[in-house]
Amino acid sequence: MSIIVRQVSKKFTNFQALDQINLEIKTGKLVALLGPSGSGKSTLLRAIAGLEIPDTGSIIINGRDTTHLDVRQRNIGFVFQHYALFKHLTVRQNIAFGLEIRKHGRKGIKEKVEELLELIQLRGLGDRYPSQLSGGQRQRVALARALAVQPQVLLLDEPFGALDAKVRKELRAWLRRLHDEVHLTSVFVTHDQEEAMEVADEIVVMNRGRIEQVGTPDEIYDNPATPFVMSFVGDVN
Ligand code: ADP
Ligand code: MG
Repeated sequence: MSIIVRQVSKKFTNFQALDQINLEIKTGKLVALLGPSGSGKSTLLRAIAGLEIPDTGSIIINGRDTTHLDVRQRNIGFVFQHYALFKHLTVRQNIAFGLEIRKHGRKGIKEKVEELLELIQLRGLGDRYPSQLSGGQRQRVALARALAVQPQVLLLDEPFGALDAKVRKELRAWLRRLHDEVHLTSVFVTHDQEEAMEVADEIVVMNRGRIEQVGTPDEIYDNPATPFVMSFVGDVN
């Protein structure tokens, strides 16, 4: 599903978090929103999700103006850094959660859960509780849970932020793989230049509520459009 953000602005008291954002995300792309802390990345992602209503402008998903549609009507999956798994539920129950509340049939739920466990290669661990998993395994379960309701759009806000460098690298590969296998349009927020460069088809560089540049990792790296992009992206360590 394509996502079009048209002239979107959002102000918090007297702080302009988003300043006339225009962006088009094509179907099937894995896109990174990259920028320093406070640049408006989460606000933009939340606006696409329907968790934040823009002051002006519109969000068009697959040709449909969703600006004032309820979150549940948008067919979107989420993974957040601190959107923890339910501690008192097993891996299987966590993955099934969204299907249960949507009142899917028992048999359909069971099949879908097994299919997703296979996809994230955690078949043997379906009856464990989150506390019995590593951080990386937990985020794989979070990905599976987001995918259970078969969203066409997957939104991720610093999904791997809390993990150590090695696990982050593994999860980047997981995200890439799931995105490709499930045929999603995905948008993920990161402040990590290397992460964006490595995983994304396209990078949207944000600064102070505005978009500085949109391009492939190569374009951004080879031809930074502004001094900000040059200094921020050149800062890979
Ligand atoms: P990022 O994700 O790039 O770090 P955010 O989109 O979270 O940036 O925030 C952009 C700015 O908007 C920040 O300065 C933040 O303090 C402010 N902000 C975000 N959400 C709120 C809110 N609900 N109320 C007031 N200010 C907010
Ligand atoms: Mg943020």
